Amino acid sequence: ANHACGSPVGPDAWQKRNINSLTDMDQFDPISGFPVYKCLLCDVEKVKPGNGSNPIDFGEAGEEELNIAKITHSKKEIYLDNNATTHIAPEVKEIMAAAMEVYGNPSSIHTAGKRARAIVDKARRAVASALHCTARRIVFTGSGSESINLAIKGIAFAHKGKKDHIITTSVEHPAVLNTCRWLERNDFRITYLPVDHNGLIDPLELEKAITKDTCLISIMTANNETGVIQPVRECAAIARERNILFHTDAVQAFGKIPVNVDDLEVDLLSVSAHKVNGPKGVGALYVKKGIEIESLINGGGHEFGLRSGTENVVGIAGFGKAVELIPNYIARIDHISKLRDRLEKGIRNVIKDCKVNGHPERRLPNTLNITLPGFRGESVVLEMEQRGVYFSSGSACKSGDSKPSHALLALGLSEEEAHCALRFSLGFETTEEDIDHTIRSLAETVQTSKSMVHFVPCR
Ligand code: PLP
Repeated sequence: ANHACGSPVGPDAWQKRNINSLTDMDQFDPISGFPVYKCLLCDVEKVKPGNGSNPIDFGEAGEEELNIAKITHSKKEIYLDNNATTHIAPEVKEIMAAAMEVYGNPSSIHTAGKRARAIVDKARRAVASALHCTARRIVFTGSGSESINLAIKGIAFAHKGKKDHIITTSVEHPAVLNTCRWLERNDFRITYLPVDHNGLIDPLELEKAITKDTCLISIMTANNETGVIQPVRECAAIARERNILFHTDAVQAFGKIPVNVDDLEVDLLSVSAHKVNGPKGVGALYVKKGIEIESLINGGGHEFGLRSGTENVVGIAGFGKAVELIPNYIARIDHISKLRDRLEKGIRNVIKDCKVNGHPERRLPNTLNITLPGFRGESVVLEMEQRGVYFSSGSACKSGDSKPSHALLALGLSEEEAHCALRFSLGFETTEEDIDHTIRSLAETVQTSKSMVHFVPCR
């Protein structure tokens, strides 16, 4: 698996790398199209010696000598990948379990339907209260990505034939970037603002990019990879002065720093439940009163006509509860940020030439993106996984793509530096012991591990 990203793919190259013995050349994963690793075709179970039902006889050699189950997991899993997703809070699970008993359709007018409607309404009020708006302004969707699609395409299509220009940044999440690329193929023009070496956009560049045809500006509140917090309030003010609508992708910022529409004064804002200890597959879009927006999913006119489809009552119930818990987390921001700084300091002590990516201050309190020169990111991730520590690397490997992160390249990192980046994102349950264990494990990994793959440039 160390070879999966950035190294040459295709049967010929795989054979040259002499890892075809691990690869089933006749089978391809139907989703990614990649060859299947033979060793991943089955689950690996640790076999206990002396067990009568055991198909393997260890004889006198014993388990140790035969080197079975080399891979051991530490008992505790340390999860430092909270920007990817968070665990579901116990209170959220409880409310979701209760909501599962409510079988009615929220659109039905009888009691069973009213019970389901009450759940959806309560959650809507919770999200609205967190974002400082009225419940009527919140549209529930199927994810943060869907909220973003609805915001950007919805505004674009409401302006089609009148205004065809949209401004965004080069460091947005793919949910924004790929939506904009899709619009480019559908006769819209997009400007992608650059960022400086700290990952920040310049509001002056934004002003310069505005044209008489600009209908929307979309700038993320905080970046998912570096945690860099953009000057959204200032940019929204520029948009307002010019009568241009403003959307912010607040998916990553929501729940980690105070985020509300009173303060940011934006027209549209996207959030997602699974980043705030809620369930996956639920999002919400704030749409300011009076804004004309086309719906993307047509049907029975649910969610104020903006998102048809019977509501995901259980997921929405969980989202509402998760949002109610956010103030508890926000109260612990300083503590989280101290732990993050402890981690950064610890890594600096171990790897002297490491380099933090993103703005040193203007970043999410839980996020550390750091390049360890010469150490392939995925390789470190896989090695550390064996030690029970989970986090991400700087490549977009998870989606079957070996390219280095666009967000890191936009900061001016070389491909090699981006491939050697790690992203640690702490959660509200992260402890000092977790951080110290992570630092120790990383030190062991980079100093002693023989299976670590050092940086191999893409061909
Ligand atoms: N925007 C940002 C900044 C994100 O970090 C993510 C998820 O990683 C999304 C959008 C997409 O959210 P979802 O996974 O709910 O579609």
